[in-house]
Amino acid sequence: MTYDVIIIGAGVSGAASARELSKYKLNVCVLEKAEDVCAGTSKANSAIIHAGFDAPEGSLMAKLNVRGNEMMDELSKDLDIPFKRNGSLVVCIHKEELDGLKDLYNRGVANGVKGLKILSREEVLELEPNLSDNVEGALYAPTGGIVCPFILNIAMAENANVNGVDFRFNTEVETLKRKDDGLWHIRTNNGEYTARYVVNAAGVHADIFHNMVSAEKIHITPRRGDYCLLDKEMGSHVTHTIFPQPTKLGKGVLVSPTVHGNLIVGPTAIDITDKEATATTQEGIDDLISKASLHVKDLPVARKVITSFAGLRAHEDHHEFIIKELPDAPHFIDCAGIESPGLTSSPAIGEMVAGIIADIEKPEKKENWNGKRKGIVDPKVMTLEERNELIKKDPAYGNIICRCESISEGEILDAIHRPLGARSLDGVKRRTRAGMGRCQAGFCSPRVMEIINRELGIPMEKITKSGGSSNIVLERTKAMKGDE
Ligand SMILES: Cc1cc2nc3c(=O)[nH]c(=O)nc-3n(C[C@H](O)[C@H](O)[C@H](O)COP(=O)(O)OP(=O)(O)OC[C@H]3O[C@@H](n4cnc5c(N)ncnc54)[C@H](O)[C@@H]3O)c2cc1C
Repeated sequence: MTYDVIIIGAGVSGAASARELSKYKLNVCVLEKAEDVCAGTSKANSAIIHAGFDAPEGSLMAKLNVRGNEMMDELSKDLDIPFKRNGSLVVCIHKEELDGLKDLYNRGVANGVKGLKILSREEVLELEPNLSDNVEGALYAPTGGIVCPFILNIAMAENANVNGVDFRFNTEVETLKRKDDGLWHIRTNNGEYTARYVVNAAGVHADIFHNMVSAEKIHITPRRGDYCLLDKEMGSHVTHTIFPQPTKLGKGVLVSPTVHGNLIVGPTAIDITDKEATATTQEGIDDLISKASLHVKDLPVARKVITSFAGLRAHEDHHEFIIKELPDAPHFIDCAGIESPGLTSSPAIGEMVAGIIADIEKPEKKENWNGKRKGIVDPKVMTLEERNELIKKDPAYGNIICRCESISEGEILDAIHRPLGARSLDGVKRRTRAGMGRCQAGFCSPRVMEIINRELGIPMEKITKSGGSSNIVLERTKAMKGDE
């Protein structure tokens, strides 16, 4: 089958583009090399919905940041995803930094960020008593927010899928070329695909495909950011997202509550060459802890860290989003250099990508497009009566599988059986939070595996943590009762 549009990559950029394109009468397919959506940078970031004061004035980054931020209220309602405007503070601990705050304020105003305010030392400490005693003032941005990056990505993809977009997982694009028939021929490890348009949303790998089709080369450096995630006991240590002053390398090490009630500390900014190297280092973790402690006091990192992880920013040399049809590659739309604030901007990125194709193609809109999605039912937010009623109807909601996060079998069954359902432990984890708590899946992994085995018929030895060769168990060491 020849598709109208093929999107490479099912991160937030690809998923948002797919959802926007699903409004039109177009055959769209997303090719993703991993076994699930949200397998690249979109799964490992700060999860902040940036206000938009940091991006250079007049840049595409600034425009899409502010637009994406504005879209988030309606989108989060439509897709039933967690989102909170907790506000952000850029904190100064030296008097000489105060001029930098004014510059940020002015840039924010020029970028169209609403409600910015410079706060005195007393005003900031009233908002955040756990800030450093050295605090001198802060820039307050009430429109800053926090989101769950997994659910945002998954929800946009799910909704695109329900509206007709195909997703092909474990499908790695190897080469692509536009032939005389006017079609893009895309070779993958899973056969050849053809399409009239290609959207290159391959994250840190986007330069590879851009350079394959265009004479004007770009270069993306993977810029690693390490993080520590702290236990929920620490979730209210600060209530706003606390930033230091930004530097050339990025927004600096932040401390923020997460939308699920943990505390996140990070990221570092380390340029590397390996586009897959997401292992954290002790050096990186030590660095981020010492930097975070300059602005926030009493961070109990030694006792309360439940996990650490790293993500790779797709840093293009010109530090700007590249979203356009390439002049020397007709119908090839780049969505490259999507570093921070890419998560925030993602709904606006989707809008822009779809707009570029719609302007050329003038496709008809679908009359029956449905932009609404219902999330996985969470018994924890119900009243006792509602919960009892739910368990009466479906006892699986009364069977707790993940003790740390209190996740029931009912939620896991929903995660597996809904559109683009989970097939691995991480797939279940990102959709339900089973395994995201204090014990980091030590207790619930075997139980989630049993459910995947029973529901999808995947043998225990073939169940993976996150696709590929990440199998959990290799073989049986002894026969079980009932075996032949
Ligand atoms: C440390 C850090 C902190 C950040 N913090 C924030 C923040 O707080 N707020 C914010 O707004 N933004 C933040 N960002 C930026 C944000 O996370 C990214 O901009 C966004 O996730 C990029 O999404 P994407 O879809 O473009 O790329 P990705 O999520 O990387 O998706 C690309 C996809 O393409 C797939 N792919 C690659 N090659 C192929 C191939 N050959 N064939 C098929 N598929 C392929 C990958 O598997 C992947 O799934 C942060 C980033 C980092 C690293």
